[in-house]
Amino acid sequence: MGNSDSLIFVIDTSALIGHLGYAAAEAQFATTPSLLEEMKRKKLDNIIQTLLNSGKLRIIEPTSSSINTVVAAAAALGDLQYLSEPDQQLLALALDLTKQGYDAVVLTNDYAIQNIASSLSIKFRSVGEHGIREIIKWKTYCPGCTRQFPKRTKGEICPHCGTPLKRRAVNKERL
Ligand SMILES: [Zn+2]
Repeated sequence: MGNSDSLIFVIDTSALIGHLGYAAAEAQFATTPSLLEEMKRKKLDNIIQTLLNSGKLRIIEPTSSSINTVVAAAAALGDLQYLSEPDQQLLALALDLTKQGYDAVVLTNDYAIQNIASSLSIKFRSVGEHGIREIIKWKTYCPGCTRQFPKRTKGEICPHCGTPLKRRAVNKERL
């Protein structure tokens, strides 16, 4: 570890599904133990094995302090409930690698991951054509009675009129 400025792609399952071509590139890859398990469950063994055999994929457990940083950032953006534990670990790993001097880039199509990466100044790249270009904060509101709510859990309904709550983007910041 500690190669200054070396490019390393921090990958999740969506990265592998979306862009098998990256395996042939000169880049290094890293992921977490829990994401490795998820990749195996999704039948991505071939690509994983190719990466592991070539020494290009490192499996690294993120530090708990970086996980705490990620969770706090996600909560501030209102995105915490859209971020699974493996997602948190992916972002934490990217933070750890950045601190170690790597040019770490998260490779993911997951929108919540991209949004939180933006707010933490973690580099990311979408594996498709449409990466996000804005940091988005979310507000929860009731489409029935237009009341606003500070938070939302999935499936929650408005306590005033019973309409399922929705969320919309507010406070967009151009990147
Ligand atoms: Zn309502």
